Amino acid sequence: MQDVRDIPIKALRGVGPAKQAAYARLGIETVGDLLYHFPRAYENRGNVKRLCESDGQGKTSVIMTVGTQPRRAMIRRGMTLVKFRAYDESGDCEVVYINQDYVQSMFPVGSLFRFYGKVERDKHHYRMTSPVAEPVVEGHVLPPLHPVYPLTEGLSSKQIGQHMEMALALAAQGLEDPIPEEIRTREGLCTLSFALRAMHKPIDLASVEIAKRRLMFEELFLFGVGLRSARHTTELIVAPACTENDLSAFLSLLPYELTEAQRRTVEQIRNDMAKPYAMTRMVVGDVGCGKTVCAAAAAVIAVQSGRQAAIMVPTEILARQHYADLAPYFEKLGMRCALLIGAMTPAQKKKVHAAMAAEDPEARVQIVIGTQALLSEGVEFAAPGLVITDEQHRFGVGQRAKLSDKNAHAHLLCMSATPIPRSLALVMYGDLAVSRIDTMPPGRQRVDTFAVNQSYRDRLDAFIRKNVDEGGQVYIVCPAVEEQEDEEDLLLEEIGMARESKPPLQAAVQYAEQLAERLQGYRVAFVHGKLKPKEKDAVMNRFAAGEIDILVSTTVIEVGVNVPNACLMIVENAERFGLSQLHQLRGRVGRGTRKSYCVLVAGAMTDREIGEVAQRSLQVMKNTYDGFSIAEQDLAQRGPGDFFAKNSGGAIRQSGGVEFRLASQCSDGDLLTRAFAAADELVAQKGIEEHPVLQSAVERMFGNEAYHDILN
Ligand code: ADP
Ligand code: MG
Repeated sequence: MQDVRDIPIKALRGVGPAKQAAYARLGIETVGDLLYHFPRAYENRGNVKRLCESDGQGKTSVIMTVGTQPRRAMIRRGMTLVKFRAYDESGDCEVVYINQDYVQSMFPVGSLFRFYGKVERDKHHYRMTSPVAEPVVEGHVLPPLHPVYPLTEGLSSKQIGQHMEMALALAAQGLEDPIPEEIRTREGLCTLSFALRAMHKPIDLASVEIAKRRLMFEELFLFGVGLRSARHTTELIVAPACTENDLSAFLSLLPYELTEAQRRTVEQIRNDMAKPYAMTRMVVGDVGCGKTVCAAAAAVIAVQSGRQAAIMVPTEILARQHYADLAPYFEKLGMRCALLIGAMTPAQKKKVHAAMAAEDPEARVQIVIGTQALLSEGVEFAAPGLVITDEQHRFGVGQRAKLSDKNAHAHLLCMSATPIPRSLALVMYGDLAVSRIDTMPPGRQRVDTFAVNQSYRDRLDAFIRKNVDEGGQVYIVCPAVEEQEDEEDLLLEEIGMARESKPPLQAAVQYAEQLAERLQGYRVAFVHGKLKPKEKDAVMNRFAAGEIDILVSTTVIEVGVNVPNACLMIVENAERFGLSQLHQLRGRVGRGTRKSYCVLVAGAMTDREIGEVAQRSLQVMKNTYDGFSIAEQDLAQRGPGDFFAKNSGGAIRQSGGVEFRLASQCSDGDLLTRAFAAADELVAQKGIEEHPVLQSAVERMFGNEAYHDILN
């Protein structure tokens, strides 16, 4: 029998091609996708008030009897109103619907409705405009909580609700649980069908919590199973033993001594690579701690041992930067090094491809630095030895699998600037070897950090001017523009889904415009997630070249980009960012000789409005400069959720292009540990072959192709 999850969405009644396309925009193609499309909030329609108790703020429910026949009136061309009066025991209210003529027949005089919306009040006159109306019928309880879904054009929350009803009905007929029964009961988790119903048709918040806990466990468990079973097969890959590992010539070229932590890391790499099977090592360390030189040392070892090395980075800017920094060293050692990026002409690329694949060792390029272009068709190494991925969390499982697939018998080294807490690293990476670079090169300055609120705006502008006037450059980071939630959120009574109430966003575009206006004469530019990569690169390049004074951005500033002249980092609505992410942002400055500062601006006017949790986080940032320690405090304060979040530097997303639906809300570290332990146990003891439903759920999570890539 076909799994309900695999039924295409268009099989549901009412889903035609247009709706199907709208669902596709939300990433929903099957009934299974729909069932896992969770509300982002719940409206509390159960909070029923009397008219006289309504305060005009926010939405409330009022139960009223229809008092007069609804009348339709044309206000002007293209605008009609349907009006009637309704009453409860405390007063009498005008109800108005705009351009919804069909409601005229919905409200017979004398019938009872629950109206949900904003009650406007002028002395003793009340008015509701286009409220949601649900008939009150004896013997039928109206659900108090109403799910609010992430929407897209062409789909209303109501339509999603109707389709969901059908999907739930299908699910009720038999939806096998990917969590094996014995694990589910042992962990005290509710069944899948209960959980899905409770999320989409909640009776109360307590059941939503129970459901969320189970679904979070499921997500973490599937993720754990996926990682574990993939790793199982990558453990003992034969690779060339690179034993020509005398680094003295290379090290003598450097203008500095390696730090203790770098030396330890290089030593670990050297040991790994000398063995006849593949190294799988991750180097983690704060931005600026000097990971690149460790990568270069590994490349030197590979080349000295007669093999080739590839260094793959996520952006063209980074590739160029690495090439410019490293190629001179390699060339002094007599090693042939090439750049390979998408922006090169086909002829240039072809030349590099040929040099990479050259049979003649004398003609062969030995080190290639590049972007995803390294994964294109026609790219082959004649003697692969080492693959390095820098800023590794930016690559999805698929891309990395492809790279290691192309170089099936190569050593793997990855670099990450996102320190994750030791406890998480253990569950996440298990037997993947990790080198931690936990000290900075000497002479590195501390980036003085301040936390301020909106009342400092003028002083902040003056501080920006001062820094630019002295020849420095400024980064300003605002939360993402594309979040459409804000206005809507103000109207919603959010329950449960948001961790704490959020202040309105600084709309980044508007912000940049206002700033440019206030700071006339300064060169302000703006980058955001909606720009094409090329456009983004162009602006970043101009900033790096000093042609822009102030760069306003959403959080798309490339990790790893080095602009030593930048000396001030301002983060707007700082309370919306996770600690680790703030730390990453702070790492953009203080890379040169200029005294550098980081100012965290809270979205509120006064410190009291900021809230206690946010206050504490900002204090941590003021007092802590070590990324590992910040990550530990982040975990302790906010739980592991941030490490799964889409835009938070995504420490954990580095283990795959996996999009988490609920894990990013996880504030319970214990749940994560339990889910991973259960995954470990299952994979180690029985494997997942006996659980086809689990197996296909894992495949779905990692994307079929990528998953098979890493398995095979
Ligand atoms: P990241 O770890 O962020 O990749 P980089 O490797 O780019 O850091 O190093 C940042 C800067 O520190 C570079 O300019 C590099 O030359 C310098 N650097 C690296 N190691 C040392 C060292 N041991 N002493 C002094 N400077 C160093
Ligand atoms: Mg780097």
